[in-house]
Amino acid sequence: MNNIVFISGAESVTQSQWLVEIQKQLTNEVIYLPEQINASQAKRIDIAIVANPDPKDLAKFPNLVWIQSLWAGVERLVAEVSGKPIRLVRLEDPQLAKTMAESVLAWTLYLQRNMAEYAQQQANKNWRQLPSTPSEDLRVSVLGAGTLGIAALKALKKLDYQVNCWSRTAKQLDGIQNYVGLEGLISMLGETDILINLLPLTPDTYQLLDQTLLAKLPKGAKLINFSRGAVIDTKALLKLLDLGHIAHAVLDVFEQEPLAPTDVIWSNPRITVLPHISAPTTMHSAAKVIAKNITNYRENNIMPKFVDIKQGY
Ligand code: NAP
Repeated sequence: MNNIVFISGAESVTQSQWLVEIQKQLTNEVIYLPEQINASQAKRIDIAIVANPDPKDLAKFPNLVWIQSLWAGVERLVAEVSGKPIRLVRLEDPQLAKTMAESVLAWTLYLQRNMAEYAQQQANKNWRQLPSTPSEDLRVSVLGAGTLGIAALKALKKLDYQVNCWSRTAKQLDGIQNYVGLEGLISMLGETDILINLLPLTPDTYQLLDQTLLAKLPKGAKLINFSRGAVIDTKALLKLLDLGHIAHAVLDVFEQEPLAPTDVIWSNPRITVLPHISAPTTMHSAAKVIAKNITNYRENNIMPKFVDIKQGY
């Protein structure tokens, strides 16, 4: 039997559910919590499965070869393992990508069909029909064309939107226009009716969508942020919403979560607030992905694809 440590900041019920799900998939491993292992046993642990771990708990395991995250976004862990000889593996779960693609479709339709405006009209007993652009004529651009971005792009394409994406490296995608570099981003923004952010938060993407770039969107464009709040300069976004340059924003992620009760974002009629729900990790499918990664490593010595710490994702 091999040993693994499970380190999470989750409350004890959730932690127990995770342990049960993962243990069911990994019958040749014993999964321990940090408090169940003494210092000499800790030295023999080579894999940690983590979800928002306390760095102090991680530091108790000096010989970790790799860390498997239960989340797709790993920016905090990237900072914590930087400079250490530990590989970081994030969750790449097809189920999660499917959930994100569904969210992208749902909220793109919400914006396309003016649902936020109709909810406000109803509150004011206002009977007014608003124009809506047919899918074929609506330009939807996705920032990021990774695991989640590609799933979203494919789903959007199926509904006949005009689909664009922006990534760090160039891609050939059937029927989808791909842009790279700052010039490419500026060109894409100018041709966008709905912009969807699926970029990881890295030193390069921190506050990337500032006032200058957001203003490149055509007047009346709409925005969805499903990756991380800090990729967008919130003050600049609020200003452009107030000016009516950006017509509406659906925000699922914020620099501070939960959003403070006093935050002006809550009551902005041009913002739809979601509580970080666009693509939650599903325990059952995530446990299967993680078990496959660990089994492949134990049996075939094949390490799963790991995060490029220098690039930050
Ligand atoms: P991924 O597979 O690593 O894809 C990242 C994409 O962003 C890639 O296409 C990459 O370009 C591009 N990119 C990264 N840095 C860039 C830069 N500086 N300039 C241009 N493009 C850049 O990540 P993913 O699995 O799709 O996940 C994306 C993010 O979604 C996660 O990091 C997380 O923050 C967020 N997320 C949110 C939720 C939620 O519920 N709200 C749930 C899960 C994940 P290349 O293709 O050229 O490498």
